Amino acid sequence: MNQYKQPIIFSDFDGTITERDVIITIMEKFAPPEWVEIKNKVLYERTITLKDGVEKLFNLIDSSKKNEIITYIEQVARVRAGFDEFLEFCKSRKIDFYVLSGGLDFFIETVLENYKDKVKILCNKGNFLSEKIKIDYSFLPKNCTLCGDCGFCKIEVIEQYPKNRYTRVLIGDSLTDLSPSKVSDIVFARADLIKYLEEENIPYVPFKTFYDVKKELEELLIE
Ligand code: MG
Repeated sequence: MNQYKQPIIFSDFDGTITERDVIITIMEKFAPPEWVEIKNKVLYERTITLKDGVEKLFNLIDSSKKNEIITYIEQVARVRAGFDEFLEFCKSRKIDFYVLSGGLDFFIETVLENYKDKVKILCNKGNFLSEKIKIDYSFLPKNCTLCGDCGFCKIEVIEQYPKNRYTRVLIGDSLTDLSPSKVSDIVFARADLIKYLEEENIPYVPFKTFYDVKKELEELLIE
């Protein structure tokens, strides 16, 4: 007998909801050139942890730039095609949409300003009290055995929704989504995440837009 399980969406923000990674967009405009080396050490050489890497990146930028960054992001950041329609779909099916991001509140809330009533945002917070931007953490890993060195434990959030009651859907694009993919029931992947999932033989559904996610999910969720 199949027991009905409530679908629940856990979506990454940078490069998943947005067309481009907003952290990268900010660094390109506001950080000195050494940000590139830090990014490569985090994402490709994996010699700096995600937590330390994001800290080092924002620590390159003066806190006084906060408003300038927000204005710039308002101008250039774009959400991925189909995002509005996908949120409508979730609302009509009473499916909760969580944004899980190791990014920072000040730019995530800027981009998602028009969607505030349709999404629940869980992320870290920018701290502008020092000369350089610092990070206040709310979701550091406590007992995470799969990775444990990031600045936002997506796994521990997902695990609050037990597998026997929820169909846990992960949507992501990058290394930060690899470990949470391992505890999710359905994974939608794009960009680098596809490569990491293939290396570890983790099943996924590729997507380019949220129209793709909606279409696939409608089919997968039919009983
Ligand atoms: Mg991402």
